[in-house]
Amino acid sequence: MDSFLTGLAKDFHGTLIDPAHADYDAARAIWNGAIDRRPSAVARVRSASDVVTVLRRSQAAGRHVCVRGGGHSASGHSCIDDAVVIDLGGLREVTVNAHRAIARVDGGALWSDVDRVTGAHGLATTGGLISHTGVGGLTLGGGIGWLMRKHGLAVDNLVGAEVVLADGRVVRASSDENPDLFWHCAVAAAILASSRSSTSACIPCATCSPAWSCTRRRAPARCSASSASRRRWRPTS
Ligand SMILES: Cc1cc2nc3c(=O)[nH]c(=O)nc-3n(C[C@H](O)[C@H](O)[C@H](O)COP(=O)(O)OP(=O)(O)OC[C@H]3O[C@@H](n4cnc5c(N)ncnc54)[C@H](O)[C@@H]3O)c2cc1C
Repeated sequence: MDSFLTGLAKDFHGTLIDPAHADYDAARAIWNGAIDRRPSAVARVRSASDVVTVLRRSQAAGRHVCVRGGGHSASGHSCIDDAVVIDLGGLREVTVNAHRAIARVDGGALWSDVDRVTGAHGLATTGGLISHTGVGGLTLGGGIGWLMRKHGLAVDNLVGAEVVLADGRVVRASSDENPDLFWHCAVAAAILASSRSSTSACIPCATCSPAWSCTRRRAPARCSASSASRRRWRPTS
C-alpha cells in the first residue's frame, strides 16, 4: 500500500483494495467486460463520512476519484485508470414512508433493492427495465423504465437528494433546499461532467442518496405524484 492509501486507511472505515489485494480484479470489474481499467484503489465505503474522507484526502493528494454505483456504465465512467474508485456498493438500504409514498434510497442501491421494499407496501416508481442497474447512475441519466409512459422518467419522480459536495460538505438538495443543485442532479451527470461548473456539480453528485416519490399500484387516480411530491418533500434526518 502506498503512503496515500496508508494515510487514508487511518480514518476510513470501509475496505481499501489496492492492486496487491487478492480482491483487486473483482473489485475493479464492472458490468461491461470490455472495460479493463486499473484504478489506484477501490474504496468500498460504509457511510457518507467514508465518502467525505476519500474525497478530502484524494483532493489533498491530487488524486482523481470516480464513483461507482451499480457498475453498469457501458463506457466505464465508474472505473478509471489510476483513480480512487468510491464504491457505493455496500450502501443499499431502502426505506419507505408509505403514508407519503416516498422512498429513500442509498447511493449504491440497485433497482431490485427498491422493488423489494416498495413492493411490500404496494408502491412502485419508474426504475430500470432490469433490476440489476444502479439507482444512482440510472436516475442521473434520466432513467427509462416500465412505468414511464404513465409516470415519466425515473428522474421526474426524484424529489430530493443528499449530496456530498466536492469540498466534502454533505448537503440536501430539493426544490426548496439548494434548488440549483437539485436541478443539476436532474439534468444528467454526463452533461455536467463536460463543463467547468459541473466539475463542482458533478463530483458533488458523487454520492447522491436520493428520495423518490412512488405511486400506488393499481391506483389510476393521482398516479403522477412527482410535481406535488416535489413541493411536499422535506428532508428527514
Ligand atoms: C444491462 C443494462 C441494462 C440497462 N437498462 C436500462 C434501463 O432499463 N433504463 C435506463 O434508463 N438505463 C438502462 N441502462 C443504462 C444505465 O442506466 C446506465 O448505464 C447507468 O449509468 C448505470 O448506472 P449504475 O449506477 O449501474 O452504473 P455506474 O457505472 O456505477 O455509474 C454510472 C455513472 O453514474 C455515476 N453514479 C452512480 N451512482 C451514483 C451516485 N449514487 N451518485 C452520483 N453518481 C453516481 C457514476 O459515477 C458513473 O458516472 C442499462 C445498462 C445496462 C448495462
